[in-house]
Amino acid sequence: MQDSRSNKWLGSGWKMHRTLGEAQAYAESLRRFVEHERPSVHLFVVPPFTALSIVCRILSGTQVQVGAQNMHWADGGAFTGEISPLMIRDCGAEIVELGHSERREYFAETDYSVNKKVLAAFRHGLRPLICVGETLAEKEFDVAEPSVQRQVKIALRGVPPDRVPSVMIAYEPVWAIGDTGSPAEPGYANHIHGIIRNTIAESYCAQTSRTISILYGGSVNFGNAESFIQQPEVDGLFVGRASWEVDSFIELIELIQQSS
Ligand code: PEP
Repeated sequence: MQDSRSNKWLGSGWKMHRTLGEAQAYAESLRRFVEHERPSVHLFVVPPFTALSIVCRILSGTQVQVGAQNMHWADGGAFTGEISPLMIRDCGAEIVELGHSERREYFAETDYSVNKKVLAAFRHGLRPLICVGETLAEKEFDVAEPSVQRQVKIALRGVPPDRVPSVMIAYEPVWAIGDTGSPAEPGYANHIHGIIRNTIAESYCAQTSRTISILYGGSVNFGNAESFIQQPEVDGLFVGRASWEVDSFIELIELIQQSS
């Protein structure tokens, strides 16, 4: 697992998109690009479960890490429709995305289930990408900061200090995500990233808080990516729509490489 904050991170979350053939074509193009250009950016893609194995196989041995979009905390059992950490490892993935706001909103994910999953990820050598962010109502009622602090604190409860550097956090304000969202002001994102880092410093220590990578996500696109990446507390970007075409993802990689 890489713990370095020296290079920026750029990840692509595919949500419920891409058939096997489409995923394969995307991964093959990305592989050709990174083998040729070797960009100094930490990269990852998060395909749907059906494509996880093939995308891992195509990108194995490259600098691109692959993540799953969710998992159950148990190793196995009578949990129809769920996927265990062992199964994700079996596919070759290194990252697991946990607590995305769509999972919280539509699939009853809670701060406490995210915490169980974070601990399970570490038991199985997976790097958790923990998504946190306030809702529009929380922002309007001026409780964005305590909401994000609560999500971070609960997600990390019980994680030993030596594991914290491999945690990634994606700050994704719920009101900024998807077709109806609009991006946060970069300065606002930077401020909340600072709050997240301070929360980790309080739970652990200042030095540990500086090792953790905090990514911004929510309506990032080619036009605004640079303004986010230049913020001192922003260690990378987690992108949805603007990265679903491999050419657009490659353009973003080139942009991040040039501007960091
Ligand atoms: C997301 O859903 O995690 C996300 C960042 O989406 P988008 O970039 O499309 O707003």
